[in-house]
Amino acid sequence: MASGDAKVEKSEQQWREQLTPAQYEVLRKAGTEPPFSGDYVYNKASGDYRCAACGAMLFAADTKFDSGTGWPSFTEPAIAEAVELRPENSLFMRRTEVVCRTCGGHLGHVFDDGPGPTGERYCINSLALSFEPTEARAEGAGEDDAGVTSAGEPAG
Ligand code: FE
Repeated sequence: MASGDAKVEKSEQQWREQLTPAQYEVLRKAGTEPPFSGDYVYNKASGDYRCAACGAMLFAADTKFDSGTGWPSFTEPAIAEAVELRPENSLFMRRTEVVCRTCGGHLGHVFDDGPGPTGERYCINSLALSFEPTEARAEGAGEDDAGVTSAGEPAG
């Protein structure tokens, strides 16, 4: 698999301008946010997790699970092609880096101790993600604050 086939290419200067310093450190420098520090660790809302750098759809909320690690964890990407997996071997450990295929941004790592049928655990930095909640559905959400009362009805 060829690396460097990113569809969104920007200079480091452009990324620095677009991203916050913390996002830049994770996405462009392969940094790792401290555990339990991210915005999405405990997020259970339904919606889409997109790349914080390029907006590509990466993970669906219904694949998210509580791994107890302190990082958002998913059983699989929304679309396999959305991410690129890169073997990362060091003296100390062997693991697999997860990169956004669209922009080449570092997202996190994938491990093989996940709970689902795939057995995979995508351990992703909140800083690399942008959560887009599912729009309020027609089935009753938001009815409480509609506050509709019929005109002319006796008040109490
Ligand atoms: Fe991206």
